[in-house]
Amino acid sequence: MGLTDDLASVLGDGLLLDEAERAERARDTWMRSQIPLSAGQAVVAPVAVCAPADAVELAEAVKICIAHGAPMIPRGSGSGVVGGVLASADSVVLSTERMSGLRSVSSSDLLATVGAGTNGLAAEERMQEDGLTIGHWPQSIELSTVGGWVATRASGQYSTAYGNIEDVVYGLEAVLADGSIYRTRETPRAAAGPDLRHVLMGSEGTLGVVTEVTFSLREQPEPGVRQAFHFADFADGIDSIRRVMRAGWRPPVVRLYDGRESWRHFRDQMPKGDSMLIFLHEGPPGVAPVEAAAVAEICAATGGSAAPDEAVDGWFAHRNTVPSWDELLKTGVVADTIEIATDWTRLPALYTAVVDALNGVPGVVAASAHSSHAYRSGANLYFTLAATPSDPSEYAATYDACWAAALQAADGLGAGLAHHHGVGRVRRDWMRAEVGEGGLTMLRGIKGALDPSGLFNPGVLIP
Ligand SMILES: Cc1cc2nc3c(=O)[nH]c(=O)nc-3n(C[C@H](O)[C@H](O)[C@H](O)COP(=O)(O)OP(=O)(O)OC[C@H]3O[C@@H](n4cnc5c(N)ncnc54)[C@H](O)[C@@H]3O)c2cc1C
Repeated sequence: MGLTDDLASVLGDGLLLDEAERAERARDTWMRSQIPLSAGQAVVAPVAVCAPADAVELAEAVKICIAHGAPMIPRGSGSGVVGGVLASADSVVLSTERMSGLRSVSSSDLLATVGAGTNGLAAEERMQEDGLTIGHWPQSIELSTVGGWVATRASGQYSTAYGNIEDVVYGLEAVLADGSIYRTRETPRAAAGPDLRHVLMGSEGTLGVVTEVTFSLREQPEPGVRQAFHFADFADGIDSIRRVMRAGWRPPVVRLYDGRESWRHFRDQMPKGDSMLIFLHEGPPGVAPVEAAAVAEICAATGGSAAPDEAVDGWFAHRNTVPSWDELLKTGVVADTIEIATDWTRLPALYTAVVDALNGVPGVVAASAHSSHAYRSGANLYFTLAATPSDPSEYAATYDACWAAALQAADGLGAGLAHHHGVGRVRRDWMRAEVGEGGLTMLRGIKGALDPSGLFNPGVLIP
C-alpha cells in the first residue's frame, strides 16, 4: 500500500487529502514565505495532513511515515513567524488540531492538562471558569495552540511576573520522532538529571510532537492597577525598569516604547520624541497599590513624568491588533519584527546598534523598538522594521538584508539572538553564533539520537 492508504487505515477522517485543506496547513505566518504568495505563486502543499485524535493514533501515523521515508512537519495553528512550518511536496503535516480540550483540572493542586492542539485563548478561558489562570498571554493568544507555545518557547505579555512558557509548564506528553509515546513525571521539582521537558521546549517540531501540556496555574488575581510614565530619553526608561526589577517588584506588564513607537501609539498622552513606559500591577489583595506606588517613586527618580491612564487603557484595547503581511506587501511594504535580549549594561548600545544597522539597509523607512519582557539581569528588545523596496523583485533580498544586519549588530555585542519567536528557518544559520560549536554538537547529538532518519521538520532550527 502507498503512504496515504496506510495513513488512512489508522486515521480515517483524520487524514486530510483535499487540496485546499492541505494548502491551508502548509505554512506558518513567516513574512518571507508570504512574499512569493503575495506575488501570485501557488502554495506548495504537503502530500497529506494527519490530524489524529490522540497520541496513540499519532504514534501509528509517525511509524508509517518513517516506513515510507516521508518528512513530517508538526503544526499547531500556524501563527509562528520564523518559518517553522513550511511543507515540501513530499512531506506530511502532523496537525494537532483534533488533540484539543481539557483533560483534567485540579484547583487544589493548581494543575490542568490540556491537549496540545488547544487554542491558547480557549485554554485560558477554561481556567478562568474555575477562578484560575495560566497567566500566559502572547499577543497571538487567539491564533496559537498551547503545543505551539511549548515547541517555540513562547513568551506572554505578562511574563515579567508570571514567567515565560518554561515557567508555567509542569509536565508534557509527546510522540517522539521514533513513534514512541513519552510522558514526563509530574512533580513540583526534580534533581533527576537534566530536565527533559527542556529538550522538548523549543524543539520546534524537530524531535517529535507535543501531544499534551500540563500547566501549573495561578489563582486569578484581583483587577490590577495601571499606570504609565514618559521619559525624554529611552535609556532613562530602561534604567527605570532595571531599578524596578532590582528592587524586587514584578509588575506582570512592563513595556517601554522608543520615541518612534511611542509617537505611533501614544501621541495624545506625551510630547513628541518621548518614550512611554506602561505598567500593569497585579497580585494578592493589597499588593498592586503598594507596588504601583513604589514603581511610581522609582520612575519619578529616573526622570519619568506620569502619563494619563488612557495610555495604558489604549494599549490594552489594541494589544493584539496587527496588520497581515499580505496587506502590507500589497501596499509595497516589507516588514517584520526581531526580538533579542541582553543584560542591562549592553541594552542601550544594543538598541542603537540594531536601529542603526536596520536604517543602513537600502529601502528601510522605519526601524524602532520596544522592550516587553524584563528580568533581574536584563530585558528583551523587540524591533520592528519596515522597508519599501522600489521593485517587488527586491522584497526577499531586502528582507534577508534586514535580518542579517540586525542579527550581525546584535551578535557583535554578544546579545541573545532569539528572545521568544524561536529559530525556524529565519535564524537557523545564526544558531552557530547563538550556541557555539559545542552547543551545535549537543543539539545534533540529541537530534541524531531521537530522529536518526532526520525526518522531523528538516530545515528548521539546526543548521
Ligand atoms: C500576530 C502575532 C503575534 C505573536 N505574538 C507572540 C507573542 O506575544 N509571544 C510569542 O512567544 N510568540 C508570538 N507570536 C509567534 C507565535 O504565535 C508563537 O510562536 C506560537 O507559540 C506558535 O504557536 P502555533 O500553535 O501557531 O505553532 P505553529 O506556528 O503551528 O508552529 C510553530 C513551530 O512549532 C512546531 N510545533 C507546533 N506545534 C507543535 C507540537 N504540538 N509539537 C511539536 N512541535 C510543534 C512547528 O513545527 C513549528 O516549528 C506571534 C505571532 C503572530 C502572528
